Amino acid sequence: MALGRGRRPEAPAGPSLSPSRAADFKTCPLLFRFRTIDKLPELPSADQIRGTLVHAVLERLFDLPAAGRTPEAAAALVAPEWDKLLTQDPSLAEIFTTPPPVAAGTAGAAGETGAAGETGAAGETGAAGALPPAVDPAAVAVDPAAVAAEADATGQAALIDVPADDAEAARVAAFLSSATALLSGYFAVEDPQRLQPAERETLISTVIGDDLLLRGYIDRLDVSPAGDMRVVDYKTGGAPREAFEGRALFQLKFYALVLWRTRGIVPRVLRLLYLKDAEVCDYSPEAGELERFERTLTALSAAIERAKRERDFRPKPSRLCGWCRHQQLCPEFGGTPPPFPELPLTIVQPATPDVEPDRVGALLRDDPLG
Ligand code: SF4
Repeated sequence: MALGRGRRPEAPAGPSLSPSRAADFKTCPLLFRFRTIDKLPELPSADQIRGTLVHAVLERLFDLPAAGRTPEAAAALVAPEWDKLLTQDPSLAEIFTTPPPVAAGTAGAAGETGAAGETGAAGETGAAGALPPAVDPAAVAVDPAAVAAEADATGQAALIDVPADDAEAARVAAFLSSATALLSGYFAVEDPQRLQPAERETLISTVIGDDLLLRGYIDRLDVSPAGDMRVVDYKTGGAPREAFEGRALFQLKFYALVLWRTRGIVPRVLRLLYLKDAEVCDYSPEAGELERFERTLTALSAAIERAKRERDFRPKPSRLCGWCRHQQLCPEFGGTPPPFPELPLTIVQPATPDVEPDRVGALLRDDPLG
């Protein structure tokens, strides 16, 4: 994986922020606490793992000569890249042995209604990431539309068309096929033969204010002959994009700010590529907007530090609760958070030199909430 070519700031004594964790705090301070302070494990969903696979294929695709970047070539990369991921982490294969999604509202399924009135515990896995209890399929009347919605919410859409009693090989084949379908969505919106990315999978970072370290990975950076930059982010999740577009834009503005501060140029375009829908969302930031965004991040970091000092991370229910893996511990859903851990007050995420905390391993790509 290529590391950032921008200035690597000396690790400051103060806090650091990644786009995902900053967005977590904005979305729900308690979610931020569960993920960043309690460090509760979250099993990756099939959709997340598929997202990791598709990102890997798209990165490899640009290793090929331009003329060879065809849909067939991309499809041919799916199985080898999946094998590489499995070699890195054999536990990924467990997604093929987990219970299938069931219709919301059925016994044991994720049919609770959250405080925001959304169908609730779809992704409920508990603190240890355990999967929800299996439901006897014969005991419930399954509505296909409800199952599809449930699969989106649980992140298991990649497996939705595969009967639970199918052989594991059939489930793997269906999973790989769904990854190939997402790649078709990519080719519907871009022609990689006409592109030569300047950078891929790049860690970028900068320090703002006195000591706030910002850092994150960008999927792709295109630079025109005139020096104009375009930041590209691939979105592969099965969840409806409207629910997460705000978070996605926040993430891209974060990257734009870091690039501006490190390279002195405001990116011309921030581009979201929604592969499932084969849609492109372009946004052009302005310097004044990024200045305001920088102040927002500084204020956000101060709010996080204050919440740590006061040990006060409140739940903030929203429709995104449906994708939260920690509902069992959330007071909004009748749960009780674990005791607040003892932590140094000034460090949210240790500033290790080469590891971006949201991308430890390959499992957190395209997390609907991450
Ligand atoms: S369930 Fe909702 S309110 Fe509770 S921690 Fe998760 S996102 Fe926050």
